[in-house]
Amino acid sequence: IIELDGVRLSYGTTAVLRDIDLTIRCGERVAVIGPSGSGKSTLIRCMNGLAVPQAGAVRVFGSDLRDDGALRYCRRHSEMIFQSFNLYAQRNVLDNVTLAPMKLLGLPRRVAEAAARQHLEAMEIAELAHAYPFELSGGQRQRVALARALAKGPDILLLDEPTSALDPERVQGVLQAIERATERGITTVTVTHELGFARRQASRVVFMEAGCIVEDVPVPQCLDAPRSTRLANFLNGRL
Ligand code: ATP
Ligand code: MG
Repeated sequence: IIELDGVRLSYGTTAVLRDIDLTIRCGERVAVIGPSGSGKSTLIRCMNGLAVPQAGAVRVFGSDLRDDGALRYCRRHSEMIFQSFNLYAQRNVLDNVTLAPMKLLGLPRRVAEAAARQHLEAMEIAELAHAYPFELSGGQRQRVALARALAKGPDILLLDEPTSALDPERVQGVLQAIERATERGITTVTVTHELGFARRQASRVVFMEAGCIVEDVPVPQCLDAPRSTRLANFLNGRL
């Protein structure tokens, strides 16, 4: 469903992605881990056209994102969750979740609201439907962002350190909400430093260092018996 083929990207003279080949199949849940500055965010931003490589091809849903039609299709069928929640500040929670389904998918308000309430329920924030973003905690905002993303029924969900801006006591609740929401079907690529989460949620772990994929393996094997010493060192520094 996502294919990177010889992808290279530099900012100025800094090579950020060096010849990346990566194929993600439909329904896979990939965790991307690695040191700061290794290119993790840039990698997943390539998967929806937010970052554009200088060389190589990115194909999503089978089509090269350099094609405008393919990019539009990709944007419509994939969603991204950022570190910093990016809600519409002037709109209440319910509007935040219903605007895109009504405008983009053309759902009538009643249908969009019923679906939105289900997503808010699933995120355990049903009672916040009429609150405004400034009234919410970081954890609550990220749950709204998740409900909003899921309300569009994406096939692909890209998450870039979804809990790194949260207070420590809110992290686990949001991670569990993500785990529940992504249990079935949806393809996810999550940049995370939460190794416990990666172990539970992911079906595969990609370890990046200095713009390269150093390891790419099924989770248990990767975290319990890393093959590369660099990954072992990284895990030791963290665990
Ligand atoms: P972190 O764990 O800190 O989020 P990361 O693995 O996500 O790091 P990236 O954000 O992909 O790393 O950045 C990789 C490198 O690219 C860094 O050296 C960063 O300074 C540089 N970089 C990223 N985005 C830009 C940009 N828009 N302009 C210039 N340089 C950038
Ligand atoms: Mg990053």
